Amino acid sequence: MIDKEMKIWRLLQVILYLSGILLLVLLFNDSLRFFPSLDDNFGRDAFWNILIFSAPFLFAVIPGVWRNICPLSTTSLMTRYFGVGKKIKQSKKQDELLFLISILLLYLIVPLRHVETSGFSVASGLVIIAIVAFIMGYFFQGKSGWCSRLCPVYPVERLYGSKPLITVTNAHCSSCENCTSPCPDSTVSDIHDVHHESRLSQFSNYILIGGFPGFVWGWFQVSDFSNRTEGWSHLGEVYAMPLLGLLVSIAVYWQLRQSFTKKDYSKISLVFAATAISCYYFYRIPAVLGFSGHTGVFGLDLSVYEHYQFMLQFVVTVFFFWWIVFRKKIISWEKRPKYKNC
Ligand code: SF4
Repeated sequence: MIDKEMKIWRLLQVILYLSGILLLVLLFNDSLRFFPSLDDNFGRDAFWNILIFSAPFLFAVIPGVWRNICPLSTTSLMTRYFGVGKKIKQSKKQDELLFLISILLLYLIVPLRHVETSGFSVASGLVIIAIVAFIMGYFFQGKSGWCSRLCPVYPVERLYGSKPLITVTNAHCSSCENCTSPCPDSTVSDIHDVHHESRLSQFSNYILIGGFPGFVWGWFQVSDFSNRTEGWSHLGEVYAMPLLGLLVSIAVYWQLRQSFTKKDYSKISLVFAATAISCYYFYRIPAVLGFSGHTGVFGLDLSVYEHYQFMLQFVVTVFFFWWIVFRKKIISWEKRPKYKNC
């Protein structure tokens, strides 16, 4: 018997799933033009300037809500809903290895944004990712294959989502089968507390927490190519600045950890997380709102308000430092359901 709250989550999951399919159609339409009245950049605008633009904010403020309704998560967990799949339980080592791979995938995929050539290529990439999510969900138990391990977005959720606004019901797990330990949904985030973990986990957290602010900064130092296909012959440039930023950032993180004691590591990590998300919005806000000669989302042009640009960037930066570094509230993303067979 599904209670009223769960019905609302199911409804939201269906709405988000259908929206995901619609987004795919719009992305394909950019290239294939089956709705010729729509602008030929409409799908990419919706994807990059609405979905991807809002994602870091959602991860920082309501990560549990996002994890309940993410269409890729629903795709991956479909086999569990239908009671099929292999339900392979991973060892701790495999678990940690998958997390490292998810971080490497994040660093591999994000620079390719500079060379995506069409709505068709973005949509095709998403379809491939959805197939991988489905396969991981088929083979591995619960969220241990995709949502809480291989998904390249998961490291960013962990990095930004240590102080959520609310803890919500876990809408994907009706009971807990202990698929991952510790469960990132049900446990207060531990990513900023790296010194208790294995060497492999410490390394993963190091390159994520230490490297991500520099990686984000470096990403914005690379311009899109006017003819995007040209970008494929300049892959060195596309990866060089993000990787340089990543290495410098790791060096600063390492130096800070040398200069402070273990009890300060958590704070340092939170500062790095806040720096990464603030850097993202510092650069993206002008582009999405149509400041500084950019064409904003769906042609939005707020250049007449351009004198507010810096103020807006400043307010957003202060907000994220307050939210991630200074707020005391540390809660889990979701409530743990009762254990299976209890
Ligand atoms: S609540 Fe339990 S079953 Fe659900 S993701 Fe967490 S560990 Fe896995």
